[in-house]
Amino acid sequence: MALMITEACTACDACEPVCPNKAITAGDPLYVIDALKCTECVGAEDEPQCRLVCPQDCIIQHPDFVESREDLQQKYEALHG
Ligand code: SF4
Ligand code: SF4
Repeated sequence: MALMITEACTACDACEPVCPNKAITAGDPLYVIDALKCTECVGAEDEPQCRLVCPQDCIIQHPDFVESREDLQQKYEALHG
């Protein structure tokens, strides 16, 4: 499942540099996760790094991107070759 950022985001920029897939970008006004790139950090880390650093606790599961751990691993490998 990809993650998404809610309206509680304060654009603090803590999450963007920690994403192993470069899936997070500064939007206007909220930061945005590209669901096609987010693997919930599967393939790179034990848990979602953006969630660990977000002071607002505003990163949730994206309801439209339900993917198994296996799917996420394949997605990671496709992104990184
Ligand atoms: Fe990036 Fe991981 Fe957050 Fe997804 S869960 S946006 S891959 S840091
Ligand atoms: Fe927004 Fe949280 Fe990312 Fe900060 S860490 S930019 S509050 S989603």
